[in-house]
Amino acid sequence: MIELRTPTEIEEMKAAGAFVASVLGEVKAASAVGVNLLTLDSIAATLIRKAGAVSSYVDYHPSFGAMPFGKVLCTSVNDAALHGLPFDYRLRDGDVLSLDFAASLNGWVADSALTVIVGAPREEDLRMIEVTERALDAAIAAAQPGARMGDVSAAIGEICRGAGFSINTDFGGHGVGRTMHGDPHVPNDGRPGRGLPLRAGLVFAIEPWLMQTTDRIFTDPDGWTLRSLDGSRAAHSEHTIAITETGPLVLTARD
Ligand code: MG
Repeated sequence: MIELRTPTEIEEMKAAGAFVASVLGEVKAASAVGVNLLTLDSIAATLIRKAGAVSSYVDYHPSFGAMPFGKVLCTSVNDAALHGLPFDYRLRDGDVLSLDFAASLNGWVADSALTVIVGAPREEDLRMIEVTERALDAAIAAAQPGARMGDVSAAIGEICRGAGFSINTDFGGHGVGRTMHGDPHVPNDGRPGRGLPLRAGLVFAIEPWLMQTTDRIFTDPDGWTLRSLDGSRAAHSEHTIAITETGPLVLTARD
């Protein structure tokens, strides 16, 4: 079911968005060569506790997960594309690290992701990250009242394919509200002018993600982490947005 939020509710959701953005900022700042993924998770957990927020991940147990997630942050390193379960691993020079974080504050969820390079970057990794960010920006720009979901999806597809990437559409964006995952689904490729009409009050996450030389994934033995089938590296960018009468509002905007 698709729920529309009132302007007052969207106003309330801003606090969750700002909180999620601030946690990602802090974890990003802490991501350095030698830092353990479990340390990054505990930084996020501490910030959740201090803010009186609630993790959207720790008890999360959908059909595609082997067991409840058990952590509060997704840390996907190198060939890990999505849902990276933090484990005892110290970041190495040149690692590509995607951080995905969702939490609720005052009863509203926000969800956002970014990808950073730890230490010295490789040119192709910078480019892949830049393409996911550009795709996200274009998708947000397309999320206007009166447009359709296909316009949002097509914006992602055009940029990613235009940059030479193939797209896996198994996982995409989703409605965000009282819970992390709701309707509508926001596919990472599509046709302009098709799909759900976008109306003021719709709140959803848009999340393009790419792998360097494949569009196929497999699940790590940890039951959660999704890795590229060919071992190539991955990147992921996500924001939660609200459609308002005057256009898209990025609830998880970073400064
Ligand atoms: Mg997310």
